[in-house]
Amino acid sequence: MYIKILLVTFIYHTSCDAKTYENYTLFRGIPTNEKEIAFFSNLSKLYEVVYWRRTVVPNKPVDFTISPTDLPRFLDSALDSGIPLTTLIEDVQSAFNKQTIKTYIRRKLRSFDWNSFYRLDDIYNWLDDLVKSYPKDLQLINIGKSLENRDIFAVRLKLQGSMARSKVIVEGGIHAREWVGPAFVTYMLNEMVHSPFSNNKELYNVAMGFEWYFVPVINPDGYEYTHTHDRLWRKNRRGRYGIDLNRNFGIAFGTVGVSKSDKYDETYCGPSAFSEPETRVMAEFTRENSKNLMYYIAFHAYGQFFIIPYSFTPKQFDNYNDMVKLGYHVAAKIHKEYKTEYTVGNAYSCVGYLASGSSTDWVKKAFKTKYVVTMELRDTGTYAFALPPELILPTCRETMDGMIGMFSPTEPLSEFRPTSSCQQCQPSFMVKRFAVVFLCVSFI
Ligand SMILES: [Zn+2]
Repeated sequence: MYIKILLVTFIYHTSCDAKTYENYTLFRGIPTNEKEIAFFSNLSKLYEVVYWRRTVVPNKPVDFTISPTDLPRFLDSALDSGIPLTTLIEDVQSAFNKQTIKTYIRRKLRSFDWNSFYRLDDIYNWLDDLVKSYPKDLQLINIGKSLENRDIFAVRLKLQGSMARSKVIVEGGIHAREWVGPAFVTYMLNEMVHSPFSNNKELYNVAMGFEWYFVPVINPDGYEYTHTHDRLWRKNRRGRYGIDLNRNFGIAFGTVGVSKSDKYDETYCGPSAFSEPETRVMAEFTRENSKNLMYYIAFHAYGQFFIIPYSFTPKQFDNYNDMVKLGYHVAAKIHKEYKTEYTVGNAYSCVGYLASGSSTDWVKKAFKTKYVVTMELRDTGTYAFALPPELILPTCRETMDGMIGMFSPTEPLSEFRPTSSCQQCQPSFMVKRFAVVFLCVSFI
């Protein structure tokens, strides 16, 4: 019994080989003009910097860490330039140390509980056990291999008795360090498959209404690397530098919001569109299911945004205005339980950034999929990538409420018609029903 308890509660942190962020401080700067924007975007040329969030427009935050060695030099320079800085996290490593990792116990579905984070094998073992427990509803699909030969799995869910033909694809974990993404995708799958036993009729109706495809970890190599070597790794594991998979899809490839030449930049897009196995696998899988594909939702962190395509241009196309209304509806649902505030808009007008080669833009353009959204989950910078384990479940719960709103959009849309557009983000809209949040993310 004692051994069992030990196993169940066994938690550990990253291995000894992992890069430490001890005494690394997470700073936030809010540039107010072009000169200050240049100051922040230049930092990586002068110091050992990891950007957590970037901007190309004034009055949006830039979040970054600077190594303790470079810190005095940087602070002198910031002081000389008169640029104000806020400290978001004093010691990043101690914040990461609180992100406990639990081991999943095979055939004990309840040992996967969203109170901790999980390694890739544990996520995959849980998926396998879940599918075996509900063989009439679920199917595990190996959709291809990553660069380092790891499997990329999708789970197909079609509840018994469902006559639904419309499809939904749910993508998670394209950016390795955004751990709450895979956590939410697994949570959503779990909620859906258990919905026939739930008192939540709305949830059950939503689950019955579609044929679902969940891809919790599209970047498995990167995800593992964040556990074993570098908690802040974002890209896949190409070379020593990595390629940003969410800049590698074949839409406006290499044009905006990317680095084309600096391979070590966080947004290096690779030599050509679909140069990476992970993006090819996901594109092929989406193409195979593109008939009747009604929704494609990608989960990222952080910032609390409902981001509407397209991200590569400031212009608004297709059903943008309807998507804004849908975004309001989803934001209102999310707000209900914990008062979490979301901002709705496209990348440029509300987020303050352009990005080419994203998965969601590519899907929208290639298949004219009606509802395509990038969700940036919690938070807005208090914990950022170091979201503590006790906030995983609240994040999942509120996002699930939002998703139920997303997938049953008919009745309430008119109720959440925006009253006015926001000044900073014309002509897009912010969530006016709640306090307007101007903290915008750049790293979609
Ligand atoms: Zn992301």
